[in-house]
Parts: sequence; structure tokens; C-alpha cells
Amino acid sequence: MTSHPTDDGCIFCRIVAGQLPCFKLMEDETTIAFMDINPVNPGHALAVAKGHWPTVDVIPPEILGDVARTAQRVAKAALAVLKPTGVNLLQSNGPGAGQSVPHLHVHILPRYPDDKVRLNWVYQPGDKKEIEAICSKLKAALE
Ligand code: 5GP
Ligand code: ZN
Repeated sequence: MTSHPTDDGCIFCRIVAGQLPCFKLMEDETTIAFMDINPVNPGHALAVAKGHWPTVDVIPPEILGDVARTAQRVAKAALAVLKPTGVNLLQSNGPGAGQSVPHLHVHILPRYPDDKVRLNWVYQPGDKKEIEAICSKLKAALE
């Protein structure tokens, strides 16, 4: 019996349930980590909530914390074993952010010299008035 929400049509729910194979790294009560089947770089892995929560705004915060802990464990293993020059943790929410599997997960993405991964951007100073205005709106929503 599962104590978390599931979705029969979801690829990651089916991996969690053992109905689809994966290259599993580890699992605990609330999370699982496995290799990404379309690796952007060698060692590309995913830390995944066992329950079907699509995005960061709906997952219970304690489960999000569990996913972060699992992502950290996998990142540390990748750093120790693969010796990349860095690791990105990436978590996308919604198609507008490039999320293709609507089941919350964190990418653990080892980086290597001259890889062709494009995630980083060049600093450009923002408009202070605009930053301040958005800050005020967000602060109000956080009160
Ligand atoms: P997103 O685009 O949602 O942030 O990332 C979804 C990731 O899941 C992609 O990197 C994609 O390669 C990976 N993925 C999609 N289907 C499968 C699958 O069946 N098995 C595994 N291991 N990874 C998958
Ligand atoms: Zn799911």
C-alpha cells in the first residue's frame, strides 16, 4: 500500500512503483534517485519524490526537503567519483520552465570543461526601481 499520491499515467510514478526499469542509485522512504535516460552530461541523475506532486508549489515542504537531501547525497557521490569541475542542481516547474515530466524532481548535473551545456548566464545589472517594485509585491505575498 502506498501512502503518497500516484498517477497511473506518469512515467516517474511507474518507475517508483517498479513497473518501469531504471538505473537506480538509492531510495529511502520518500525519495528515489536514478540515472537520467537522456543524459545531458556523463553522470546526469535525478532525485525524485516518490509521491506524485507535479511542482514546487504543491509538494509538501518536508518532502521537498527530503528531495533536496537526496539530491545532495547524489551530488556528493558524483563529485567524489566522477570528479567534474562543478555540479548544477536544477529543478523546473511547468512547461514554461522546460519541465517535461510533471512529477517533481531535481536534476543533478555534473559539469565538465568545455561541455556544451547552456544553463549559465552573463551578469547584467538590473533596473533598481524595477527590482524594488517586484520585491515589494513578493514581500506582501510572504507576509
Ligand atoms: P524535466 O524536463 O521535466 O525537467 O526533466 C525530465 C527528465 O526526465 C529529462 O531529463 C528526461 O531525460 C528524463 N526522463 C524522461 N523519461 C525518462 C525515463 O523513462 N527514465 C529516466 N530514467 N529518465 C527519463
Ligand atoms: Zn508521478
